[in-house]
Amino acid sequence: MREKYVMALDQGTTSARCILYDRQGRQVSVAQKEFRQIYPREGWVEHDPMDIWSTQMGVAQEAMLKVDVTSEDIDSIGITNQRETTVVWDRETGEPVYNAIVWQCRRTAGFCDQLKRQGLEDMIKSRTGLLIDPYFSATKLRWILENVDGARQRAEAGQLLFGTIETWLIWRLTGGKVHITDYSNASRTMMFNIHTLRWDEDILRVMGIPACMLPEPRPSSMVYGESHPRIFGGAIPISGAAGDQQSALFGQACFSEGEAKNTYGTGGFMLVNTGIKPVESKNGLLTTVAWGIGNEVNYALEGSVFISGASIQWLRDEMGLLGNAARSEEMARSVEDTAGAYLIPAFTGLGAPYWDPYARGAVMGLTRGVNKNHIVRAALESMAYQTYDLMTAMTEDTGRPISTFKVDGGAAANDFLLEFQADILGMPLCRPECIETTSLGAAYLAGLATGYWSSREDITSNWRIDKVFESSMEKEKKDRLISGWHEAVGRTLGWAKKV
Ligand code: ADP
Repeated sequence: MREKYVMALDQGTTSARCILYDRQGRQVSVAQKEFRQIYPREGWVEHDPMDIWSTQMGVAQEAMLKVDVTSEDIDSIGITNQRETTVVWDRETGEPVYNAIVWQCRRTAGFCDQLKRQGLEDMIKSRTGLLIDPYFSATKLRWILENVDGARQRAEAGQLLFGTIETWLIWRLTGGKVHITDYSNASRTMMFNIHTLRWDEDILRVMGIPACMLPEPRPSSMVYGESHPRIFGGAIPISGAAGDQQSALFGQACFSEGEAKNTYGTGGFMLVNTGIKPVESKNGLLTTVAWGIGNEVNYALEGSVFISGASIQWLRDEMGLLGNAARSEEMARSVEDTAGAYLIPAFTGLGAPYWDPYARGAVMGLTRGVNKNHIVRAALESMAYQTYDLMTAMTEDTGRPISTFKVDGGAAANDFLLEFQADILGMPLCRPECIETTSLGAAYLAGLATGYWSSREDITSNWRIDKVFESSMEKEKKDRLISGWHEAVGRTLGWAKKV
C-alpha cells in the first residue's frame, strides 16, 4: 500500500501555499503562488475572495501533480490562514458581495475610536481577550453591512454569510455544505466570547451584526466535512483549521503551559501556551484561543510586532544596503557592534507592548564612523530587542518564566540574530529543523482528527532540533544595551502627533 499524506493549505497574506506532509512531518511536495493585493485608498487593503479560492486550489493541484498522487493518497486536509481578514458572500450563489477586507486595513479606525469613547474597552477585552482595533474582523464586517448596497437587508433576511478565510475555504471546498469557523480564528473577530466559546450577543448588538450570518464555532481538530469530489477527483476529509500563529505554536509542539514560540517573519509574533486557563494581560498582550481539541481548549498570550524581518526588506529594497536578506548575517558579523546606533522600525507605529499608532521609525545614536554594516546589524538587533520586550510582558503577565522558547519564520535562518537574541534574553532558544511550522501545525491538527497521527506524543517525537543557541553575554553589557534600546524607543513615541 502506498503511503498517504496530509495536505496543508496555508493561505497567507501575500501567497497561497500547499504542502503535503508524511507521517514524520517531512515535506513531500510544496507549491506556492502569490496573489493580487488591492489598495483602493491609503491605509485600505483588500483581496479578491475568488482569487484566494482559485490560487489556493491551483497550488493544491500543483502539489499533488508534482508527486503524482490522487485524492486516494491524501488522508485529510488541514487549513491555516491569515487571520481576521473578512469575507461576506451570498448563501445561494456563493458570490462575495465585496472584496475581502484584509487584517492590515485601517478603514474602521474612526468607528473603533467611537467604541472606545463609548467606554466599551473593558467589556470587549474581558470577553474577547482583544483590544479595540481595526485589526480585528468585527468592525470590518460592520463596514460591509453599512457600505455595500442592500447588504444589511440581505444579511438580516438570512441571505448572506460571513467568514474569516478558513470559513470561506471550507464552505467552498464542501460545495457550500459546511459553514463553520475554528475557535482560534473566531477568537480574532472581536465578537467571540473566548470563555463560553460562543458569539457574544451583547457585542453583536453594539456592532449591529445579525447572528444568522455567522459560522458555527468548532474545535480546531475534527472532521468538519469532505471536499466535494469534483475538486480533487474524490472526497477528502477536511479535519483541521487554525489561524496562522496558533498553527505555528501547534507545529512547534508547544503543547504544555509555559512553552512559547516566536516567529520572525515580515512581522514578529510571540505566543505562549497558558494551558486551559485564559490569562488576561496587563502589559499590552492579547489573550487568544490557541486551539480546541475534543472538549479541551488551550489558550495563549500573544504579542504582535508589526515590523520584524520587514526592516531587512526595507534596507534591501528602499535603502539598497544589501542585495538579499541572507547577506545581513555576514554584514552584521563584519562589525563588532552597531557603534552605538539603534534602528527602531516603527514604520506603522508600534504594536505590543507599546501600542502607539503615532510612533515612527528612526535610527538613533549616529556618529561619523557608522557604516552600512552597523545599520544592518542594528536592524537585526531591533528584531531581538522587540522580542525581549514581548518576553518581559509575557513573564509579568503569567507570573512565571517561559520554560521553552522555540523560534521559526524566514529570518530564523539567521544565526547571528538568534545568537544575539539568546544573549539579550539571557536564556537558550531552540530552532527546529523545520522552520515552516505554520503549515505543519495545520497538518498535525487535521491528521490527529483522522488518526493519521495517534497522539500529541506522536507529533512531539517528530519535532527535531536543528540548533540550540545559548546566551553568553555578561549581564552588565546586556543591561546597557537594553537600556539604550528603551531610550531610543522612547524618542519615537507619539512622533506623528507632534510633527
Ligand atoms: P512571511 O511573514 O511573509 O511569512 P517569512 O517567514 O517568509 O515571511 O520571512 C520573510 C522575512 O524574513 C522577510 O521580511 C525577510 O526580509 C526576512 N528574512 C529572510 N531571510 C532572512 C535572513 N537570513 N536574515 C534576516 N532576515 C531574513
